[in-house]
Amino acid sequence: MSLIVAKFGGSSVATMERIRNVAERVKGLREGGQGLVVVVSAMGDTTDDLIELAKQAGSELSCREMDMLLSTGEQQSASLLALTLSNMDCEAISLTGWQAGVQSDANHSKSRIINVDPERIQQELDNGRVVVVAGFQGLSPQGDITTLGRGGSDTSAVALAAALQAERCMIFTDVDGVFTADPRIVAQARQLTSVSYDEMLELASLGAGVMQPRAVEFAMLYGVDVEILSSFSDHYGTIITEVSNMERQRIVTGVAHDLNCARFAIFDVPDQPGVAKALFRGLANARINVDMVIQSAMRDNRNDIAFTIEDDDLHKAVPVVEELVKEIGASGMVYGNNVAKVSIVGAGMQSNPGVAADMFEALADADINIHMISTSEIKVSCVIDEEHIREAVQVLHQKFGLDKIE
Ligand code: ASP
Ligand code: MG
Repeated sequence: MSLIVAKFGGSSVATMERIRNVAERVKGLREGGQGLVVVVSAMGDTTDDLIELAKQAGSELSCREMDMLLSTGEQQSASLLALTLSNMDCEAISLTGWQAGVQSDANHSKSRIINVDPERIQQELDNGRVVVVAGFQGLSPQGDITTLGRGGSDTSAVALAAALQAERCMIFTDVDGVFTADPRIVAQARQLTSVSYDEMLELASLGAGVMQPRAVEFAMLYGVDVEILSSFSDHYGTIITEVSNMERQRIVTGVAHDLNCARFAIFDVPDQPGVAKALFRGLANARINVDMVIQSAMRDNRNDIAFTIEDDDLHKAVPVVEELVKEIGASGMVYGNNVAKVSIVGAGMQSNPGVAADMFEALADADINIHMISTSEIKVSCVIDEEHIREAVQVLHQKFGLDKIE
């Protein structure tokens, strides 16, 4: 019997009515002869609500205890779904992450899966049951419950699909699939029928939000075919798989944007070896993720260095950077979170010159100033003022003809 791993996100299981809807779908797949492992997120905003509750306990929140708390959200939805399925004559059992054999590292709240021992799941499948697994959680080598970072149920699902050598991992969510841009910003945005792992990894990391980037990484590493589709309709989804020749011909596949972006500029940094190291090692030690970095041309043996981080880390970063500015002998700094990042992504960019120039032209024509630029083989990103982000996404979508993509 072929096996499918199906993951349902928080909005898909937000109420008992929606859980019944999910159960109907699961039953339908099951009647199609599929062996099924179902991974669920916590109901609706449960994770956020639990975080809010914990804040009432005080300002020092141990990550270990937080993981203990947050993992309960997924346990609720897993057991509620298993109960619903059983009452629909579809035999099911729910398992926690650790019962399902999900082993992770001990990095609480951002833990990574290091191994999956699928023995128990296999046993239950052999007994003819649908196995419902609580997503977002694992067990550390010390035997403590961990969680896998926000959106981590996606990674649970892909990891289980890899370990069980499932035919496919279906990610059911509240949108029909992956689009050429956010349809709330670009009315003409088109749904993509397929997208390569590389492109999806860039889109997910650049703010497209449909899937946790780590889950895409995992899928790419283990060659898991992933399909993203809506749990609310029968619309076709988007397949994420190896790049096809068709995609290679597509120069730009999508426009992504990210508002979760803050920028620092540090002035008059001495131009000598070891300074960048001191600055960025300091940030890394404070566990602050740096995204883009630019260093200006030297004058009087001094440079300016600007970089971006996630908005969420700004509060934590300001005192750290203030200290580092003194340490490296720079003259001062400014920072702000009124910036955003817009990116174009496409596997076909590698072999087509002029793509970046076209992007800058579209932004210039709209009178949008670019603060920072970064590129990889298959993406170009620009940091701009946040107030222009909608327009930037729209003009880029238009410039690269994404409304006509097939
Ligand atoms: N419930 C967790 C979150 O809200 C994990 C997930 O939804 O994937 O981030
Ligand atoms: Mg989610």
